[in-house]
Amino acid sequence: MAEGPSAGSLLVTGAASGIGRAIAEAALREGYETVLVDRDAEALEDAATALSALGRVHSHAADVAEGDALVTAVAATRAARPPLIGAAACAGIEVLGKVDELDPAEWSRCLAVNLTGVFNTARAVLDELLQTRGSFVAVASDAGVVGAQGYAAYCASKHGVVGLVKAMALDYGPRGVRVNAVAPAFVETPMAERIFAGDDRARDYYRAAVPLGRFAGPDEVAHAVLHLVGPHASYTTGHIYRVDGGATAGYFER
Ligand code: NAD
Repeated sequence: MAEGPSAGSLLVTGAASGIGRAIAEAALREGYETVLVDRDAEALEDAATALSALGRVHSHAADVAEGDALVTAVAATRAARPPLIGAAACAGIEVLGKVDELDPAEWSRCLAVNLTGVFNTARAVLDELLQTRGSFVAVASDAGVVGAQGYAAYCASKHGVVGLVKAMALDYGPRGVRVNAVAPAFVETPMAERIFAGDDRARDYYRAAVPLGRFAGPDEVAHAVLHLVGPHASYTTGHIYRVDGGATAGYFER
């Protein structure tokens, strides 16, 4: 039988904006202490200040792509908070382009942040999650479960995240740690704003492809993440939870 949330901490990367910030907010409302990590130190401080009205917030600026930066972030906050019972690897960047259009440096950066960043986050939190029998959630994408035209690097990075999550679920399930991913389609965040800036045709195309007829709000993705982290998902691991308004359910014409 599922129990209510126990006192513990949830680490969120990419917490200064969009989906990550919404996850942090939802976690605080559910009674978790939060450890917020983001590369953008200024935006992180703003988010931490605003969110601290809801509960205890610890924050540490770090780039998830940099080897041990997450290990340092976890260690730096360790004494001041209860143990981690969850982690949400949400930091990510958009890189658009087909293979012949991509600079190799853009490809590498996309993989370094979106895929290696999840690996680095997992490495940093696993010790604690193994002790608490906690839960790890990666924010993948619909581009992690289906192809996405003109998104070669992004699509490869998110498919990689889906594979990593499945492998981790097998590796750590026997030791009590659950590992899942959410796979959102477009979400109303600054990332989507940048992608669609000045391109209403693309915005309308993608919106029309969603059976529910609209993009997600960041809170709707956050609630799915909190469900996967929490006790009500106690028998769910290795799952790719599509939060996409039906966009990847099949061929669809409005
Ligand atoms: P966003 O740009 O609004 O926020 C991303 C946050 O991650 C920012 O605060 C940014 O500073 C931080 N970040 C970026 N690179 C980082 C790094 N190397 N180290 C630490 N922090 C870093 O984007 P969002 O829409 O909230 O996206 C969050 C996640 O959701 C990403 O992984 C993205 O790929 C995924 N996603 C987004 C959408 C969408 O439509 N918005 C759809 C599917 C999946």
